[in-house]
Amino acid sequence: MNRLFAVACLSAALLFAQPSASQQKLDEAYTAKIREYTTEKHFLTELVDHLPADPKVPTPEKILGYPAGTPFKLTHASNVHKYFRALAASTPRVQVFNIGSSEEGREMIVAVVSDEANLAKLNRHKDLMAQLADPRKTPPAQAAQIMKEVVPMYWLTGSLHSTETGSPEMLMELAYRLAVEDTEFIQTIRKNMIVMITPVADVDGRERMVDLYNWKRAHEKQAAPSLIYWGKYVAHDNNRDGMALSLALTRNVWKTFFDFHPLVLHDLHESVPFLYVSTGMGPYNAWYDPILISEWQKLSYHEVEEMTKRGVPGVWTHGFYDGWAANYMFLAANGHNAIGRFYETFGNGGADTRKRTVPGASTTRTWFRPNPPLPEVNWSIRNNVNMQQSGCLLALNYTARHKQEFLDNFYKKSQRSIAKATTEGPAAYVIPGDTKRPYLAADLLKLMDLQGVEYHTLNAEAEVTLKNGKRKFPAGSYVIRMDQPYSRMADMLLDLQYYSVNDTRPYDDTGWSLGYLRNIETVRVTDTAILNAGMTKLAAAPVIPTTINGAASPKAYIVAHTADNGLATFRYALKNVKMLAAEDAFEAGGQKFQAGAVIIPAENASRSAIDAAAKNLGLKITAVDAMPSVAKHDLAAARIALVHTWTSTQNEGWVRLALDAAKVPYDYISDHKIRDTSDLRAKYDVILWGPINGSSQRIVNGIPKRAGEPAIPWKASELTPSFGTGPDQTDDIRGGMGLEGVLNLRRFVEAGGLFMTIQGNASIPIDYGIVEGVSIQPTRELQASGSVLSSYVSDKLSPIVYGYDEKIPLYFKNAPVLQVSVTGGAPQAQGGPVPRVTGRGGINDPDVVQARPPAAEAPRPAPVRPGEDPPISDEMREAMRAYLPPDNMMPRTVVRWSPDSELLISGMLAGGRELAHKAAIVDVPVGQGHVVMFANNPMWRHETQGSWSLVFNAAMNFSSLNAGRKAKVSLNGSGAPSVIAHEQ
Ligand SMILES: [Zn+2]
Repeated sequence: MNRLFAVACLSAALLFAQPSASQQKLDEAYTAKIREYTTEKHFLTELVDHLPADPKVPTPEKILGYPAGTPFKLTHASNVHKYFRALAASTPRVQVFNIGSSEEGREMIVAVVSDEANLAKLNRHKDLMAQLADPRKTPPAQAAQIMKEVVPMYWLTGSLHSTETGSPEMLMELAYRLAVEDTEFIQTIRKNMIVMITPVADVDGRERMVDLYNWKRAHEKQAAPSLIYWGKYVAHDNNRDGMALSLALTRNVWKTFFDFHPLVLHDLHESVPFLYVSTGMGPYNAWYDPILISEWQKLSYHEVEEMTKRGVPGVWTHGFYDGWAANYMFLAANGHNAIGRFYETFGNGGADTRKRTVPGASTTRTWFRPNPPLPEVNWSIRNNVNMQQSGCLLALNYTARHKQEFLDNFYKKSQRSIAKATTEGPAAYVIPGDTKRPYLAADLLKLMDLQGVEYHTLNAEAEVTLKNGKRKFPAGSYVIRMDQPYSRMADMLLDLQYYSVNDTRPYDDTGWSLGYLRNIETVRVTDTAILNAGMTKLAAAPVIPTTINGAASPKAYIVAHTADNGLATFRYALKNVKMLAAEDAFEAGGQKFQAGAVIIPAENASRSAIDAAAKNLGLKITAVDAMPSVAKHDLAAARIALVHTWTSTQNEGWVRLALDAAKVPYDYISDHKIRDTSDLRAKYDVILWGPINGSSQRIVNGIPKRAGEPAIPWKASELTPSFGTGPDQTDDIRGGMGLEGVLNLRRFVEAGGLFMTIQGNASIPIDYGIVEGVSIQPTRELQASGSVLSSYVSDKLSPIVYGYDEKIPLYFKNAPVLQVSVTGGAPQAQGGPVPRVTGRGGINDPDVVQARPPAAEAPRPAPVRPGEDPPISDEMREAMRAYLPPDNMMPRTVVRWSPDSELLISGMLAGGRELAHKAAIVDVPVGQGHVVMFANNPMWRHETQGSWSLVFNAAMNFSSLNAGRKAKVSLNGSGAPSVIAHEQ
């Protein structure tokens, strides 16, 4: 140890004030209960083993009737908020602000707790932090002054995950303690920090969780439902919205972050024992400033060490979660030059005290867990409260004592984000002004707004040098400069990701490049010349007006189709107007149109009606004098049903959100409705089954319904009023659609309906035989863990790909690999091309059988594209005649995965050859209708706007999906000729 370091340590030790035994009067009854509800002394620390009394300020017990962490007591968000308001009313050291509402209208709050002198100047401190956050406006000398004056914020957020129940209880008590306790330890926090507390991040989910818990308590002998709905749209994935900011709670958190600019956002979760303090195992997100990585370690090692000093077992770091994906809620901080971190404490999923066996792996001693959790424990919610609260207090105290250093880092990270454009680069991202999908481009800019990212438009054409040569961007191109405080957030959203398969198994998605997923070209420009181009800053994302050009009194209006999402919105806005889709490319009014262009006969809708419906949807409409002669069919405002099961609603929530965002109406129905409706076709044109994990057997059977056992309701009741505001209810969640449902679905399709599956639920029509000729292939090597992969259109006249280019970037997560083969198990369908036999000659020479007259060489099978089945011979075709569908009923592979070498765009990929050229989207005619299966997920986490139109196209063209079909198709699901000329 060198001398300087020793001095530094000594002064740190002097600064570090161990909480002294408080002279303050205690709330003896509350204190006794804390000790009673804690199962073992080693789950208590001196920081939380007591509660001071204050004659004016109410404890949680005074308002709620019980202390935080009381067995069998969970507090509704509304009552948690009530407590915070009572606290604020009683002391100048607490204030409460509304920060917005959930989708269901419930309030979110942030409470601020600090010394009264600090809170009297709250707006001043917010303003100072805002100045520090933008070094362009705040030179270093001024920043130094600010750092002396400002009292910075540390934000604690609880109960983002509704099944993780302890944090709202803990945060009430913590707020009280911070407001009234007068130990030096607490005073250090109160004087030097403004503690922000959002006790419940998912307020809808919390109400339902507490209701469900109360219901379970009242029905202890009965099977209970899981927490089927949390928020309106998603459950656990509310912590995967940090890129797309599509949920109300996320937007409220982001808005509040930009209002306060806290140094730290600390999110409280529950899962692994006993207290995991986040750092993650890596690979870390590559766009973060390395300073941030050090800050994580520093904070977390302090808490681990201090808890360990106090004899608390099982406080550890590192070995959980990677730190790669950019989609967590604490990205509000990590993506904006502050610090985002989290806890996982052990939770019982309610408020019961339970004997728990800790999974073996978590109890082993290792470098990052030198003091591991105990193998068996009697665990109470109070233990959980103690662990969370002690850790948070240590974190707050440490940050308070080191605030200069954290402020300096905050400023430095902001400076380096601005310097990024000319240091590590890139200089900017450019969305070319002549982008094909201006509406989707504007939507991406809206997201930049929400992320606090600035952008400009080019005043005139600008030329830059790219890796592969020079490129000119037209005037009006959007420029996202990297010399701004939040450049890193923009960069991590728009850059490509590469995740090595040799790294830690990824915790979540590995790739997300939003330009690709939204099907908009975003050009990464390293040439700093772009920074000197004339450009104008935009205050907000541009509105993209629809243009109507051409004839004044036309015969028809033609809407160009570019796979921009405004088209579906427009179709449904005029749902009673008859519209047609062109089945091929054509010219009209002096313009060229792609297949899928929408033709509206002028007698069907007035110009003003079209204008009103299309306003600001970014459509290009041409009025023409004559009806185009191209083949066309009805473009329907199809009646859509979106199906959910009662086993899991998580992933279909993202589909609902996409449909809502595009204003495409639908009925939201459970699989029971499929079971109970024999004539689905009378009600619906399209049934879209939201993505769901699990075998087809589990999906179809649902939760077993056994005779003699009581129903499991998910329904509003006196104990569960919050279930009534959710998306759906039922008297009994048991049973899936059953075989009755499968039959109803088959009848629906045969009668002309379209059934669409997403990802693994393709197993329903495949396993239950609604379709033939498509199977799900097992994989041995494939690893594509939430990646952006390249696909190509293999049947460009299929209505499903109207408006798309030849290549489509798609989101894919490991499965399913769809194999299209109408010959099923026929031997020829299984093998690849037969190699020549061992014999004379070179590889391309014929063999010669000795001592026999020469004979014509047996024809070798035609080479096929990798991933496709070889065509079957005429002989086989004859033999299988009874099995083979007629040509117009063959499965039609509309989109295929790209060859292995081109497959990966972003994220992780290994074993890509198992996926290469396989079907990404396949359309199987069944009776009068169709089953369309997506191996990708076209509506995922509000990131994949570029593939929404694949779903909309299929739906709106449901009655004419055979349009553009080749008369003679191959047997491997391709519209393209599969028999490649025999190469000699
Ligand atoms: Zn969680």
